[in-house]
This record gives sequence, structure tokens and C-alpha cells, in this order.
Amino acid sequence: MSPGHVAIVTIGTELVEGIRVDANGPSVARALSRLGFSVDEKTTVGDDLPVLTALFRDLTARYELVVSTGGLGPTHDDITRQAAADALGLDMQVDDEARELLRPFAERAHDPRIRDEIYQQALVIRGAELIRAIAGTAPAQCVATAAGHLLILPGPPGEMQPLLDVFLRRYATRCTTSVDLSCFGATESRVQHIVQPLIADEPQVLFTVLASPREVHAILVDVGCGTARLEEVSARVRAGLGDIVFSETGEQLAEVVDKLAIEQGLTIATAESCTGGLVAGALTSMPGSSDAVLGGIVSYANEVKVHQLGVSARTLDTYGAVSSQCACEMAQGARERLGSDLAVSVTGIAGPGGGTPEKPVGTVWFAVATSAGVTSVLSLRGGATRTDIRVHSVSVALDLLRRALLGLPLE
Ligand code: ATP
Ligand code: MG
Repeated sequence: MSPGHVAIVTIGTELVEGIRVDANGPSVARALSRLGFSVDEKTTVGDDLPVLTALFRDLTARYELVVSTGGLGPTHDDITRQAAADALGLDMQVDDEARELLRPFAERAHDPRIRDEIYQQALVIRGAELIRAIAGTAPAQCVATAAGHLLILPGPPGEMQPLLDVFLRRYATRCTTSVDLSCFGATESRVQHIVQPLIADEPQVLFTVLASPREVHAILVDVGCGTARLEEVSARVRAGLGDIVFSETGEQLAEVVDKLAIEQGLTIATAESCTGGLVAGALTSMPGSSDAVLGGIVSYANEVKVHQLGVSARTLDTYGAVSSQCACEMAQGARERLGSDLAVSVTGIAGPGGGTPEKPVGTVWFAVATSAGVTSVLSLRGGATRTDIRVHSVSVALDLLRRALLGLPLE
């Protein structure tokens, strides 16, 4: 298998009828795209054996990889295994290990029919590779097809995701390698423009950029160049992107900041207005963050900025709450009052209301206070939604902390 064209099938009558929103389709698509697959088709079908069988028959003939979710459970509407076996003309057999994992659940059932249904989940399509689930749920199965592979995953998103991750890790180590450079501080197009010339002579390296308000990923996939060459190319790309790369191992920005602060024995405080505590939330979502994060003040109202952070009323009158001056005083106030080594502040207009011609929605000021002084930074994100502005602001604040901790220029 090399990363190729993929079709995704999400299975469930409740999805087709709109009773539940499909969560698996997008997450499977995102995960595969990141590995360089081209996701070409996504279909949702009900729990209907003939319809699903025909769909599998069609898709497995045309796609290198077909991934389905749903219908692997024990009930009568769980028809995915059967449909896959029928479509590929294969029979099924009982997998002893899967059956053993199901035993405690089966034995709890008093009705023998229910017991049989539970054991249905131990049926494996002949030749399929199993990806074992946690005890009591059906394993995912990966079966060879004429054009490639069919992967069938369970429906509940929380069960599906870890099995997909295992599949992708197995796949990535067995069949291909990819490098994921997590960046912040440059737009998607800028990353594209930096990377493209560096890989112009590398037809066997596939390059994709994935952007979100949170971060930008530059992904390089080995599509024939070999691991050693991919490493050389990615080192070149890494150098070209410079200090906007914050991780090569999939860490989140907050994790990177926490680690840097802990390594250096430094503490962090936050002062947040328009992000309402999201920066502190991100920093404290990482285990072990208590070694670095002291706390934060959500200073949404001006009175809180004045009374809790010591922002001067004159600053607010003269420059307004969304200003470089206010951001600096917020950061300094948090640093002093919470007694931290570093403090970051955020104050901006997340919209949809509250914008003016001078300070439109998306105007957000940040500041970082350290023992060396305070520096403010402006972010302008016109046309973005309130959620996007807030999510992006969290990353700007975290990245300022990262840069301050690494001694990189802040402006
Ligand atoms: P189970 O053993 O739980 O029955 P299963 O593999 O048979 O697992 P389904 O029966 O298709 O999965 O779905 C189980 C639950 O997961 C249902 O509540 C269903 O609505 C939900 N689910 C299934 N597919 C999706 C999806 N694509 N997006 C969101 N929820 C889903
Ligand atoms: Mg089910």
C-alpha cells in the first residue's frame, strides 16, 4: 500500500436520516489526508445489507483504500462484516482471541440468542488482519481487495478513533513514512511558498499543507523516495521554515510551552480578556502543567482589568481596552500579582459586535512580560468568526510564550 485514493463509508440509518451528525467521516478524512492520502469520496448509507454490499463491491474495485465506520456491533442492524465478506466473495470464521474477549459479556446475557449475537463480533473475514479493540467490542478488520484494502471500523467515535490510530501507525511504519512539521506564525500560503521550491526536485515526496486557526501543518510523505531521503528533505524544509516550526512530533503548542517552562524552571501566568480563560485552559490541559502554570485572571470587564491587574484607568480612557498599552499593563499586572516569571495577556474584539473602523472585529493585542520587560504584538484577523478569532488568539498567546522561552524575536 502506498498512500493513494481513498473512499470513506459511514454506516448507520441514524446518520442518513439526520438523527445523528456524522462525526467519523470528517475525522477519518482528516487523519488520512494528513498522511498524504487523497480522499475522493465519502458516502453515508443506512443499515441495509444489499445496499452496503453493492457499495463495497463498487468502491473496493476502484479505490486503493476503502474505510468504513459503523455496524460492527452485535445487533441485527450491524451488517458491515457480512456486507464486506459478501462484496469480496469471502467467508467468515470465528477468531478465538476475539471470542475470548467477548466471553464475559456473552456470559452475562441470559438469553442464548443474545449470547450468539455477541459472539457474532468475533467473526473475521477470511484473510483479514485484525486490529484488536478494548475488551468487549468488535475488532477492526483490514482485508485485501482487488485494488488495495478495505478497513472496517466500529461506529462509536470513541471506539473508532483509537483503532484508526493503530491502523495508521501500523500502516505508516510498514508502508510509508511521513513528517509532520507543526508551525505557527505563518499563513498556509506562506508555508506553501517556503516549502515548494525546497521540494521542487523531489517528485517522490508528497507535500501538503493543512491549516486551521490553531496551527499550520507542513506534511511531507514518502511516496517512493525512501526514509533516508525523506529525512534529508525534511531537514531542508525544517531549516527553511525556521523558528515557526514548534514541533516535529505532533505535540500541541501548549505542550511545547509547558515543557520549555518546566525545563527552564520558569513559571507562567495569564491575563485574558477576549479568550475568557482559553489560554490558561490550554496550558493546564497538559499533564504536569502545574510545575509551570501558576494561574490566570480572566479580566473581561474593564473594572477587573483595573482592580485585579492594575491596568490604569487613564490607559483605558486614552487608548481603550483593546490597545498595546492595555495589553502590556495586563501582562505586567499578571506577572506581578501572581508572582510568575512570564505572563501573557490577550485583549481584543472577537465580534461579531463591538468593532469600529479604527479597531475592526479581529483586532487583538497581546503582550508578554518577562524579567527583561514587556513586548506587545498585534494580530488582525478580519472576516473571521468569533470562534476562529478566539482559537487563533490562544495560539498567538501560546506562541508568544514559546518564543519568549526560546529567546526568539517576538515581533
Ligand atoms: P456498537 O457495538 O456500539 O453497536 P457499531 O460498530 O455497531 O458499534 P453502530 O451500531 O453503527 O456501531 O453505532 C453505534 C453508536 O455509534 C450509535 O450511537 C451511532 O449513532 C454512533 N455512530 C456510529 N457511526 C457514527 C458516526 N459516523 N458519527 C457519529 N456517531 C456514530
Ligand atoms: Mg451497532
